[in-house]
Amino acid sequence: MSDNCIFCKIVAGAIPSRKVYEDEDILAFHDVNPWAPVHFLMVPKRHIPSMAQVGPEHAALLGRMLTLAPQLALQEGCRPYPEGGFRIVTNTGAEGGQEVHHLHVHVMGGPRPWARG
Ligand code: 5GP
Ligand code: ZN
Repeated sequence: MSDNCIFCKIVAGAIPSRKVYEDEDILAFHDVNPWAPVHFLMVPKRHIPSMAQVGPEHAALLGRMLTLAPQLALQEGCRPYPEGGFRIVTNTGAEGGQEVHHLHVHVMGGPRPWARG
């Protein structure tokens, strides 16, 4: 847990969230300010600031997050590929548009138009 990290507080349950999925290592919850009809975030429970800090020791965790995303997207209402689908985004650093510095994957989908993106 990193001090003053909003996503660590969500993982710890100190800030409420609408949960999509949880296991030992990963939490997924709805974005509080959705860009799309389906918009949830997937985070590792352990604090990693961004993709800039990942190394070989994170390969299995990141692989699990990415392979889980399509399953959760369908579960949350994205239509199947190819008519439906989803967008996966990980903003990294200031110029990458990252606002919360706890690694997270945005999963967005649902009928267009979207609010953004
Ligand atoms: P970033 O710009 O860092 O890639 O995205 C951060 C995302 O976290 C934004 O889409 C924002 O709406 C979402 N967010 C920020 N604070 C909270 C919060 O307290 N709860 C939830 N559920 N989402 C949050
Ligand atoms: Zn954190």
